[in-house]
Amino acid sequence: MNTILIVAEHDGRALNLSTAKCLSCALAISGDIDIVVLGHGVAAVAQEAAALAGVRKVMAVDAEHLAKPLAVNWAPELLNLGAGYSHVLGPSTTLGKDLIPRVAALAGVNQLSDVMEVLDARSFRRPIYAGNAIIDVAVAEGVLVVMTVRIASWPAAPAGGSATVESRPASVAAASHTRFVGLESAGGERPDLQGATRVVSGGRALGSAENFKLIYSLADKLGAGVGASRAAVDAGYVPNDMQVGQTGKIISPDLYLAFGISGAIQHVTGIKDAGTIVAVNKDGEAPIFEVADIGLVGDLFTIIPEIERLL
Ligand SMILES: Cc1cc2nc3c(=O)[nH]c(=O)nc-3n(C[C@H](O)[C@H](O)[C@H](O)COP(=O)(O)OP(=O)(O)OC[C@H]3O[C@@H](n4cnc5c(N)ncnc54)[C@H](O)[C@@H]3O)c2cc1C
Repeated sequence: MNTILIVAEHDGRALNLSTAKCLSCALAISGDIDIVVLGHGVAAVAQEAAALAGVRKVMAVDAEHLAKPLAVNWAPELLNLGAGYSHVLGPSTTLGKDLIPRVAALAGVNQLSDVMEVLDARSFRRPIYAGNAIIDVAVAEGVLVVMTVRIASWPAAPAGGSATVESRPASVAAASHTRFVGLESAGGERPDLQGATRVVSGGRALGSAENFKLIYSLADKLGAGVGASRAAVDAGYVPNDMQVGQTGKIISPDLYLAFGISGAIQHVTGIKDAGTIVAVNKDGEAPIFEVADIGLVGDLFTIIPEIERLL
């Protein structure tokens, strides 16, 4: 029987959608599925996790030094709680990419990254070479499976469960050599890029941080998250947590609008799982049109105001 432990991603108030997506992956593995909520003042988050359908129990570890998701504090806690489990899962978000490798290292096993499909409880499918090839990976019997789940590949498991919630004391003291200094988040009230159902992105063509306000304005009208190409990030128009692509975020919105983005393979890697892709580019030969469902050849500086007028 598989026993699967999922680490919950949350902001202290609510569960991130990535947890329900990890649960879908765990359900595909099949077995007893538990969720651990690490943090401080996380009773509401633990209840939210317990309401997901298919969860056996939720362990809530409440301690002041766990309030911020510092991998140095969370990883040993997760490893201790994971003792006796066959699988430990986390999302392939910024949190999971930081935390799960530490857990794997502490456990002395290889990490399995970006699992997109479960073949059986020990064999998994994942992308390599920026999504240009898919590889099947098997984990030997008796070895703890520590993996990140490619959240763009999995639907969110629905609510409808009523798992028990257990409080657990923290088992590891706070690390003394690492401390939380601050969090700067650019998104404000906009939907989280990796959970958003609509995303509006801008590229180098925007030309400046000032002009990027056009993208924010359209996104706000659409209730969308905001993304960017690496060129826009490198040019300093937007912060790098908005980067979409191979070295940015892999996203799967229902609707993706790309303005002034050429469609380099490293960018397209990040939007492969998007539902409908709309591209606006003044170059009719731009590679983004090869993946776009709807393409408009034209100047974004005239097209964006026109779209806004129609909304
Ligand atoms: C190892 C590696 C990893 C990378 N990772 C990423 C990644 O994660 N994400 C990512 O995005 N890139 C990544 N890149 C960079 C990638 O190769 C491209 O350089 C980048 O995506 C280009 O960004 P862009 O499309 O905004 O700029 P450009 O390629 O310069 O394209 C700008 C586009 O805007 C169009 N345009 C210009 N003016 C207008 C206008 N007024 N109206 C409409 N269209 C206009 C142009 O026709 C052009 O197609 C990576 C590269 C490497 C080598």
